[in-house]
Amino acid sequence: MLTRRQLLTTAVASLALPIAPRRLWASTTLTMGPMQIDSLSDGNLILPGDFILGGMPQDEMAAIMAKYHLPTDQLTPPCNVTLLRDGKNTVLFDVGAGPDFQPTAGKLAEAFSALGLAPEAVTHVVFTHAHPDHLWGLLDDFDEPVFANAQHMIGQAEFDYWMDPATVDTIGAARTTFAVGAARRLQTMADQLQMVTDGQEILPGVAARLTPGHTPGHMAFELRAGTEAVMVVGDALGNHHVAFERPDWASGSDQDGVMAAGTRVSLLDQIATDQMLLIGYHLPGGGIGRAERADGTYRFVEEV
Ligand SMILES: [Zn+2]
Repeated sequence: MLTRRQLLTTAVASLALPIAPRRLWASTTLTMGPMQIDSLSDGNLILPGDFILGGMPQDEMAAIMAKYHLPTDQLTPPCNVTLLRDGKNTVLFDVGAGPDFQPTAGKLAEAFSALGLAPEAVTHVVFTHAHPDHLWGLLDDFDEPVFANAQHMIGQAEFDYWMDPATVDTIGAARTTFAVGAARRLQTMADQLQMVTDGQEILPGVAARLTPGHTPGHMAFELRAGTEAVMVVGDALGNHHVAFERPDWASGSDQDGVMAAGTRVSLLDQIATDQMLLIGYHLPGGGIGRAERADGTYRFVEEV
């Protein structure tokens, strides 16, 4: 039997969920058990609005964007690379865009400097998917891995898709450079890449979760310490406006819009039900926050 005092203690303890994140230049930090998690800025993208909003019911979409005080013609989403340190492993989730994608992105090295962390200290690199803003920071000018001492991991289905010679012809003209860029980089690293499958515990406290649609083999990663958990969602929740307000809508940024919408609906349901923290690659405030249910839909609430 629990006494009242014990009940109160339990209640207080469960309220003291992951400690409030601390914000530094180019990074946001939270701690969870032995895990220190930093969200590092790789800069931001500049995208035509249509790239994300195309194909949505335009009047309803415009109302949502107005609610978030955002334009519909051009979007400038931030890019957040997640760094996990548990005293043994130093794990990077995606590597940013590198120098060859967009001039406003590829700034991860600056965030590492600000943190006083050398790229050589990274023990593992784990990819959510192989789009340019997540993958193209993989190699340096000599085609050597930037994170030279790291074991690199990627979802098996994601690897197979981008390595398929047919992909460049089937992906559509707007993404031909994505296909060529991914195939070249993954081919260069093929011998050193470790394949990851759905449900696999890839490292202590880190489980892979197949979340397809944005790309065919997109992976999210659940970081767990005791009863606390954070979901690194990558681009399965690609923005804080339409993706949360209307997760069921297909988005132009997803390669399979219907599949991505299904993934988004179930992922949001789980994250909200379990009251987990999430980290989104393109979400504001370093991407760390919660999914709150609001009038039958969701709201992204920054945890900063
Ligand atoms: Zn992205």
